[in-house]
Amino acid sequence: MDQIYDVIIIGGGAAATSAVLTLKNRGKSVAVVSNREETSSLYKAEKITNYPGLPPMTGAEMTALFRRQAEEAGAVMIHGRAISVMPMGDTFGVAVGSDYYMSRALIIAAGITREKLYPGEAEYLGRGVSYCATCDGMLYRGKTVAVVGGGEEARHDADFLESIGCSVLRFEKNGRYEIRGGMKADTLVFAGEEHKVDCVFIIKDTVSVTKLVPGLVYENGAIAVDRKMQTTVPGVFAAGDCTGKPYQLAKAAGEGNVAALSACDYLAG
Ligand SMILES: Cc1cc2nc3c(=O)[nH]c(=O)nc-3n(C[C@H](O)[C@H](O)[C@H](O)COP(=O)(O)OP(=O)(O)OC[C@H]3O[C@@H](n4cnc5c(N)ncnc54)[C@H](O)[C@@H]3O)c2cc1C
Repeated sequence: MDQIYDVIIIGGGAAATSAVLTLKNRGKSVAVVSNREETSSLYKAEKITNYPGLPPMTGAEMTALFRRQAEEAGAVMIHGRAISVMPMGDTFGVAVGSDYYMSRALIIAAGITREKLYPGEAEYLGRGVSYCATCDGMLYRGKTVAVVGGGEEARHDADFLESIGCSVLRFEKNGRYEIRGGMKADTLVFAGEEHKVDCVFIIKDTVSVTKLVPGLVYENGAIAVDRKMQTTVPGVFAAGDCTGKPYQLAKAAGEGNVAALSACDYLAG
């Protein structure tokens, strides 16, 4: 742990990659701490059709592209899970397993983690389970889908799915849901009844990354940031899904760019 990087980025998706490219263009030393790529939201996406400049591709393909691009730009890739961040005056210490890395600024681009998954939810995510009606709805046009969630967003998404020609079963009550299937999800079980569906859209509240940095303020489960992606801790910036909705790649990439530029300003004093 001799080197002090200009910036350490925690993440590995669109927000992190975008931040890497901007920081490297500005001559900064950058390390990216990233979990296995299979753990990212993007990796599970069936098909991405709304990212500018790239043809339709699977989430796994896009994840691989992002990681390669960050490496080729010259970021040091640290594989593992950041466990904690310690602000130490002018620097930050980032613990990754038993290793320790230091930087002068930090960008959190760690996506979201969801609490309390339903049985079958993780297993079938991207294979008949979706969190995003706008992203995946068209794949189920003319088919039967379930929307699980009692909030305004769930109702909005159910209306949207109906408007594009899906037959929608609405499940607004809290309770124990279970998703079953074979290669793809095909059944939603609730209150002892089985419902045959082609996709289950789960639209529930999400929580952001665990509180990695002492002093960070959260609003509605997301890291609070200003328009420069500055968090409540000086020198710590955040970008992407961890700052809140909409959960979209283009938004994550845009915020990564802004966070990187703000980190450069911060480093310049
Ligand atoms: C099934 C599915 C389909 C989707 N389809 C679309 C679509 O069609 N179009 C669209 O625009 N968006 C889509 N999305 C949303 C899109 O994937 C996200 O908005 C986008 O990936 C967010 O990028 P990000 O960089 O903020 O986070 P992520 O892509 O989630 O990347 C965060 C990374 O940080 C890592 N990480 C988290 N915590 C730590 C830690 N402590 N230490 C180290 N690494 C950590 C994670 O493992 C992950 O690799 C979809 C999402 C899902 C789940």
